[in-house]
Amino acid sequence: MIREKLKEEVDCRRNFAIISHPDAGKTTLTEKLLLYGGAIQQAGAVKARGEQRRVTSDWMELEKQRGISITSTVLQFIYSGNTINLLDTPGHQDFSEDTYRTLAAADNAVMLEDAAKGLEPQTRKLFEVCRLRQIPIFTFINKMDRPGRDPLELLDEIESELGLTPWPVNWPIGSGEEFRGLIDRRSKKVTLFERTERGRQAKEHCLSVEDPDLYNIVQPDLIDKALEELALLEEAGAELDMELLHSGDLTPVFFGSAMINFGIRSFLDAFLDLAQKPVGRISTEGIIDPLHTNFSGFIFKLQANMDPRHRDRVAFMRVCSGIFERNMLVHHARTGKSLRLARPQKLFGQDREVVESAYPGDIIGLNNPGMFAIGDTVYSGLKKIEYDGIPCFSPEIFSYLRNPNPSAFKNFRKGITELQEEGAVQLLYEIDLSKRDPILAAVGQLQLEVVQYRLEYEYGVQTHLEPLSFTVARWVTGGWDTLEALGRIFNCKIVRDAWNRPVLLFKNQWNLNQLMEDHPKLGLTSIAPAV
Ligand code: GDP
Repeated sequence: MIREKLKEEVDCRRNFAIISHPDAGKTTLTEKLLLYGGAIQQAGAVKARGEQRRVTSDWMELEKQRGISITSTVLQFIYSGNTINLLDTPGHQDFSEDTYRTLAAADNAVMLEDAAKGLEPQTRKLFEVCRLRQIPIFTFINKMDRPGRDPLELLDEIESELGLTPWPVNWPIGSGEEFRGLIDRRSKKVTLFERTERGRQAKEHCLSVEDPDLYNIVQPDLIDKALEELALLEEAGAELDMELLHSGDLTPVFFGSAMINFGIRSFLDAFLDLAQKPVGRISTEGIIDPLHTNFSGFIFKLQANMDPRHRDRVAFMRVCSGIFERNMLVHHARTGKSLRLARPQKLFGQDREVVESAYPGDIIGLNNPGMFAIGDTVYSGLKKIEYDGIPCFSPEIFSYLRNPNPSAFKNFRKGITELQEEGAVQLLYEIDLSKRDPILAAVGQLQLEVVQYRLEYEYGVQTHLEPLSFTVARWVTGGWDTLEALGRIFNCKIVRDAWNRPVLLFKNQWNLNQLMEDHPKLGLTSIAPAV
């Protein structure tokens, strides 16, 4: 019985995260997916986060309110009888570390591009993370209602720059003002769109590509052009190879406009069909099948003080196997303790409700009185398992964090430790143990400011930053012994991370290259090994 129920729930679950560069339309697309999923009645209901968040002071204001723009939460909706979990990631690039961790919990990624811009820096960076994890990537080319680049050129760019084979699932008829519809490559069906009142689903009219009526409804030159381009694609001959898709080597490509709701349904339908169901994950006991009846999950994100009224801390857990039930007794792998999870929560943006049960691929929020750390495994059953840790990503900005007030030392220590556990920032230390002020290491400047702000408002400690002029960090894979064997090295600063592992800081890439030339056998990695 349990096995059947579990299989049924796993079969109808899909989870994904969106990767994109700011402004590509992630907020808009998220909202429209929810609109088509029936989770909201009218677009515009998800808190507008548009322009505000580009201004630092507003970010701080949002930080105060713990708005959903900054933190990744999960949005769950039902579409065509399937449960879709959209792992929301913060849009601002300074929070991309958070996005990396969210990707660790996702089974699929949607790469969102602006049709006029193509690949942009943050998309490329996040793509690398997906590649590392070999997760299937779906490409949505957005803003087709505006003048954009040639679709074939956009495909070429994906192929040549990311080494990913693009496989268009649909093809646009016209673009910009003349964007009229999409041809589905597999079914040979044409969907024509009509704009509707803002916030409502677009009117759709379906017909066969061979229907002579098509030429009466749409300008013939637009159809001919689309068909010619499709013929070119067919000639190129790539197949929709599911294995390549699931290993992250082929990307199904969709065209549309999130703003005017064109192509949202086509995307969702094909996504359900092609996306990976919750997959097994690597653990100390090998790959754990989601259908294994023992419950297991791992923590991929911590967030303190999400609700300003309660000053709580929430740990986000991805369910990996079995059925999770409220009040069940589980084990915490790292400490060996047993605990009962009495108030697991489902989060929808800022709202939450207590969940009774959850299945593989779902994300739930757990109250975290300091027990959980990122990467922790929680499981039921007798046999201990631990999932592979989640790596930290290479910081690019470094700054001493000074606490000028010795009497606040305890709070300072508590604050930075908790913020580090939460993954808000990475901490590095001087080798000289008498120098206790940490070096904050972050991906973006705003991350540092948020740490300062939170230290002040949540822990009552005023601090100041003293920037360091390094831009590159590398972990030494062989540890201290390897480093000592090298003897004296130049143009880099040696520090240690919170786990006492050696880290080298360089002013620029050139200095790093120099060191690698001098010591070709030295193992360096830009991604901190998981703890
Ligand atoms: P995010 O930064 O990726 O979350 O992007 P937003 O969803 O906030 O969108 C950025 C801007 O692009 C906003 O002004 C949107 O209205 C606009 N936008 C989003 N999708 C589309 C689209 O399909 N067409 C057009 N013309 N504008 C869009």
